[in-house]
Amino acid sequence: EASNASSSEDCCVKVAVHIRPLIGDEKLQGCKDCVTFVPGKPQVQLGTHSFTFDHVYGSTGSPSAAMFKECVAPLVEGLFQGYNATVLAYGQTGSGKTYTMGTSSRDGHQAGLIPQVMNTLFCKIESLQQQIEFQLQVSFIEIHKEEVRDLLDSNAINRSEPMNGQSNKITVPGKPPVQIREASNGVITLAGTTECSVKTLKEMADCLEQGSLNRATGSTNMNNQSSRSHAIFTITVEQMRKLNPVISKDANENDNISEEYLCAKLHLVDLAGSERAKRTGSDGLRFKEGVHINKGLLALGNVISALGDDKKRKEGNHIPYRDSKLTRLLQDSLGGNSKTVMIACISPADINAEETLNTLKYANRAR
Ligand code: ADP
Ligand code: MG
Repeated sequence: EASNASSSEDCCVKVAVHIRPLIGDEKLQGCKDCVTFVPGKPQVQLGTHSFTFDHVYGSTGSPSAAMFKECVAPLVEGLFQGYNATVLAYGQTGSGKTYTMGTSSRDGHQAGLIPQVMNTLFCKIESLQQQIEFQLQVSFIEIHKEEVRDLLDSNAINRSEPMNGQSNKITVPGKPPVQIREASNGVITLAGTTECSVKTLKEMADCLEQGSLNRATGSTNMNNQSSRSHAIFTITVEQMRKLNPVISKDANENDNISEEYLCAKLHLVDLAGSERAKRTGSDGLRFKEGVHINKGLLALGNVISALGDDKKRKEGNHIPYRDSKLTRLLQDSLGGNSKTVMIACISPADINAEETLNTLKYANRAR
């Protein structure tokens, strides 16, 4: 409800944990499952540490359907009321972020959250299109080393960087670099990215697939870039209430009856791997990347924790959105009237216990 939007309940970020099962490699290494939780209780235990979240999903049943229903469906619903929203998948590389989000077309298939978002969105649109005219746009970008790359630009692959770390400044004629801009009303736009206008579920799914292919292609010559970049799939929903002939006949001429316009966007973010860059390459390159990634994740952690702090939130300017490209881009969709869900993805394997603990601590701080 708009009138409640400033209450702390609406501003808080919801946090869910998704525990994937042990996977092939871990089983082969003889890893033990070191994460416990009680089904139905939002608690996770790792060694002597115990954490409580809004939701915890294990690998039995159909966690993805429950996760969608409880965490993401309300955000999709909110789009139709004009509320921006963000879903963030956080966790170390291999913890299941891409699987959970369904960002990659190769993996996860229909199980991921994004395909479920798309299905729900189009069902709802179909049921409303007698009264409302919809326009949908998608963009798909990647932030790597504080640079934004357009995954829906067919030239994006050529503009990826070589392994020597030297930025390969091939600029496509007439296409300026992507810039994050803030309008006077606070709306954030990305100047210079492809906004695909889509009319059908198929068209939207094609954008997702094209972008994830571009992401994968870019990463082959880039030392597995995708684990060190944030991928952001954004759906913008514009709606205009159609003129209702019955109402318009009786309405006062001066009534602005046909102009009910709403615009809202949903960011679906597959974050960079949260692991620390421990193994510094001989040239220091990897470390530098690590620093940059930590910049986005660090800023995100600070923003989310500030949003949970009543005092800082009321003095809006204390939310440190400007500390990274990621938080800058998400600025109008984190906090305020918008809804945010963070899904912390973890591996149950004992060899990952240290990173899993880091993830649980980060997620705990977000609550
Ligand atoms: P990340 O994106 O965090 O690096 P991925 O999503 O690529 O991790 O997952 C790593 C591996 O684990 C993949 O092979 C993926 O198929 C598998 N996996 C992740 N989550 C699950 C799950 N919930 N159930 C089964 N397999 C999973
Ligand atoms: Mg991934």
